[in-house]
Amino acid sequence: MDYYERVSKAVEIIKKAESLYCLTGAGISTESGIPDFRSPKTGLWEKIDPMKESTVEALYTNPSRFYKVAFPRYASFKGVKPNDGHAALVELEKMGYLKGIITQNIDNLHKRAGSRKVWEVHGNTRKSYCIGCDAEYAFEKLIEQLEKGKKVPGCEKCGGMLRPDIVLFGDPMPQAYYNAAEVIRKQCDCLLVVGSSLQVQPVAALPRFVSSLIIINLQPTPYDKKADVVIREKAGKTLKDIVTALST
Ligand code: NAD
Repeated sequence: MDYYERVSKAVEIIKKAESLYCLTGAGISTESGIPDFRSPKTGLWEKIDPMKESTVEALYTNPSRFYKVAFPRYASFKGVKPNDGHAALVELEKMGYLKGIITQNIDNLHKRAGSRKVWEVHGNTRKSYCIGCDAEYAFEKLIEQLEKGKKVPGCEKCGGMLRPDIVLFGDPMPQAYYNAAEVIRKQCDCLLVVGSSLQVQPVAALPRFVSSLIIINLQPTPYDKKADVVIREKAGKTLKDIVTALST
């Protein structure tokens, strides 16, 4: 099957689906300029090891190193814009085909693009909080304090360390994940996976619970055999073509 036949197949599946949800990973944001973890050469694994630097242990044992090495990547999402892939998912939701998005991304781009139902199951870079008293702050508070020369941002109320509201390796999953997982298990009859290597647990287990699966990803995933259709093309172009086909 060529690319266009695969897109047509995906479109037919989407038209028939009663409850379509989308699961996104870092690959949907590479076209906005944010590197993913596992793409050969450009993936972040090549530069820093997130399993070592983006962990709860790294943050708690050597917070100044965490803020120096791992944090600048999170701070860099601020000036980045949503791309055609994010925009196409907004359209799919408006057209009534897509019920919601479960994203592993922490870059805020689905919400900034205008998607309404989004579960950010690895947190986001809009908020931060104090590990001592749980006081909440904007994510910008971290950047502000680091720019003023602090090595580790601190709480204005109790002096405890502030941290971004993201799920680091070793953190428990937030309630948003459990809510999303329940919806996938009980309601979803078709899952559209976009830009995820499907290797990071527990999110990577979600495709097991659905009867119909569409995968858009540049590299192979462990679920390719289970999928009804796999499209190995860029997310932006593919999602745009799907929306165009559904609109005509
Ligand atoms: P991953 O890096 O493991 O996999 C990304 C996949 O996307 C790869 O298989 C790659 O082939 C594919 N891809 C890259 N560009 C693509 C494109 N333009 N179109 C289609 N496919 C493309 O990412 P993951 O599965 O999300 O898991 C890694 C973890 O990394 C997640 O927990 C996530 O929180 C975190 N992460 C997030 C961001 C972000 O917020 N933007 C960036 C890097 C990592």
